[in-house]
Amino acid sequence: MKVLRGSAIKAIAKTRPAPGAELIDAPMPAPRESTLLVRVGACGVCGSDLHIVDWELGAERMVARLPVILGHEPAGEVIEVGAHVTNFKVGDRVALDPFGHCGRCGPCSAGRFHLCATPTTLSGAFAEFTVAPIGNAHLVPSTMNIEQAALLEPFGTGLHAVEQSCLKAGDSAVVEGPGPIGLSIALAARALGVTSIVMTGLAVDADRLALARTMGFRTVSTGDRDWIDQARALLPPDGADVVFDAAGAIDSPRELLRRGGQLVEVGWPARDLKSAELRALFFHGVTIINSRIRTPETWRRAIAMVSSGAVDLRPMVTHRYSISHGLEAFDLLRERRGVKALIIPSD
Ligand SMILES: [Zn+2]
Ligand SMILES: [Zn+2]
Repeated sequence: MKVLRGSAIKAIAKTRPAPGAELIDAPMPAPRESTLLVRVGACGVCGSDLHIVDWELGAERMVARLPVILGHEPAGEVIEVGAHVTNFKVGDRVALDPFGHCGRCGPCSAGRFHLCATPTTLSGAFAEFTVAPIGNAHLVPSTMNIEQAALLEPFGTGLHAVEQSCLKAGDSAVVEGPGPIGLSIALAARALGVTSIVMTGLAVDADRLALARTMGFRTVSTGDRDWIDQARALLPPDGADVVFDAAGAIDSPRELLRRGGQLVEVGWPARDLKSAELRALFFHGVTIINSRIRTPETWRRAIAMVSSGAVDLRPMVTHRYSISHGLEAFDLLRERRGVKALIIPSD
């Protein structure tokens, strides 16, 4: 593909420190020394994009970066490589991780890249083309469907959460929150051999719970007064080994967990845990684990799980938008409709 330097590309950008986003014409990006120019095949729309668009929940920290092209869950094809790039070539298919690690701080030196003290964040993929450092790029097989490749980022977050837990084949888990991360946790747990998985969601999540059922998971709506009894009936008598909170609001984990079980926080905790609840978890012997993002190792396993067919991420995609119609994806997300929306720049 011939790259037209100086030509304009369509993109979705945040231009002002106020609610809203805009469709803009941006200059065609050019790769620098150790970066790749990628033609975006698909880019996931994430809850954090909505926080930025609506200018809420800490989005103000982006003020110095404005204007900025949004979009951080892309997959696509390498069109051009920077002068120092030796490990990728034109035509490679890549998925991009929005988090870059410095490689020099204490956690990075210990191999805990997801805990990097000075991470960088990538954006700019709600566009026809984007540039990314090679450290953020992961090679995916050319046979992998590009939509699945774009879902590797949230799936990696789910897989990482499962890997942080004690789950083993034959164990049981509750996943609170039937969004893309919750479904990714459930898919990863099932692939690992976890045999009893219950997903819970709010009454407004009815569509998402219905999708979870079509994907083979048992679900309970926390809008039902007896939802804890319903969930317990689907679990071993002593409760679940692990409860994952992918909803940012913990629903009575103690009642669902076996003694000595684990509570894994995956979503941004959105409500205060009262000390009475923490005491109950203490006496129940519950270990609380915070799991954020992914590691390069998670990427390796996520790519293998998806490309081998052990996990199918495609059912999660409920909506697709061209860049011109991309702003509609934020309305969808705000109204909690659908599960995963993708921006498909070529549409
Ligand atoms: Zn995201
Ligand atoms: Zn670091």
